Amino acid sequence: MPVFDSNSFKDHEQIAFCADNETGLKAIIAVHSTALGPAAGGLRFWDYTASHLKTAPTQIAETRGEQDAIYDVLRLSRGMSYKNAMAGLRLGGGKSVIIGNPKELGTPELMKAFGRYVQRLGGSYYAAEDVGTTPEMLAAAAQTTSYVSGLDDGEFGTGDPSPHTALGVFIGIKAAVSHRLGKDNLQGIKVAVQGVGHVGLYLVEHLLGAGAEVIVTDVVASNIEAAQSKGNVTVVSPDGVHAVDCDVFAPCALGGGLNPKTIKDIRASIVAGAANNQLEREGIDDEDLRMRGILYAPDYVINAGGIISVESEVHKEKVSDAAREAKVLRIGETLKTVFEASANQERPTGVIANEMAEEIIRTAAEKKLTSAA
Ligand code: NAD
Repeated sequence: MPVFDSNSFKDHEQIAFCADNETGLKAIIAVHSTALGPAAGGLRFWDYTASHLKTAPTQIAETRGEQDAIYDVLRLSRGMSYKNAMAGLRLGGGKSVIIGNPKELGTPELMKAFGRYVQRLGGSYYAAEDVGTTPEMLAAAAQTTSYVSGLDDGEFGTGDPSPHTALGVFIGIKAAVSHRLGKDNLQGIKVAVQGVGHVGLYLVEHLLGAGAEVIVTDVVASNIEAAQSKGNVTVVSPDGVHAVDCDVFAPCALGGGLNPKTIKDIRASIVAGAANNQLEREGIDDEDLRMRGILYAPDYVINAGGIISVESEVHKEKVSDAAREAKVLRIGETLKTVFEASANQERPTGVIANEMAEEIIRTAAEKKLTSAA
């Protein structure tokens, strides 16, 4: 069950509950902040009720599922505000969730009903692909709203964000290695990559190119084979990857991997990877890592390359590959600032990053108010 606290509903501008009986749509759109620009963030389609049906009757399971969905959308939309702020983007933070099994419910008609709700928000929220949604589903929503980003085609389409995310993570690993190990290259540095999917595979290529020793794991055999085709990699089992003897542990699979069970076994001196929501408990697990002498690169700072690539699409601008790449490369500088502040203040990197993001958003909101007066 989610634990709602004072951080759950924190400075959110607008929450819209959306229902459509004909298609079965039950959705929530959360606009956390538009101080820096239109709120951008993915649409998650997830069966929040399913896990509760194992332990509770239908009505109670549905209520609990709805609570989970609200918790998710509040937390994820705030995370998007922080990510976009730290990446220096002209984007605010938002997120949306549709409750239900996408395979059963995800019809074009339902997506069009969802699109109509996005349209009503008048451009304060832009939807994009996330867990459970596909480019086809987003394209269906785009028939009823102009506020969808991350589309493959169209004049301003930016395509797959994964290579940009991987480049940002690679740059972030270099910044972390420089800060913690005092090395300005990755020659001989051992990196364990957990999950070699879209982002992880591109990351493996960068790491091998830089002379790192690469260890990989995945739960899908063909993804391991794809990683092996890139060069000399060592394969380990998914269960023990966080505990392997290495310099950098790079979570690139699912969230929640940094928790009391795993942190005590981590042997790397750096955790830096693409996965969203790596910390099970914000402000606690990053403090535990710090106390163990492990440098943690806050997930939403290091994995911002994807949203950086999408920014121009929301603003309907043409941006050169070089300009986009320059913005991704800045992730290294931002992380350096976070690492140094954390060391000087003896406080966790996750808390430092949150405070920096909140300050950027507060300043932008004040500026907006002043210019509107
Ligand atoms: P993906 O689904 O393509 O890759 C994830 C990989 O992890 C898959 O190969 C999967 O088989 C593997 N995996 C799942 N469970 C595992 C386990 N227990 N142990 C080992 N491997 C496991 O996803 P992706 O697009 O590469 O994204 C990876 C992570 O980065 C996700 O957390 C995502 O939210 C985050 N992220 C992605 C982007 C992007 O541009 N794609 C941007 C920001 C953040």
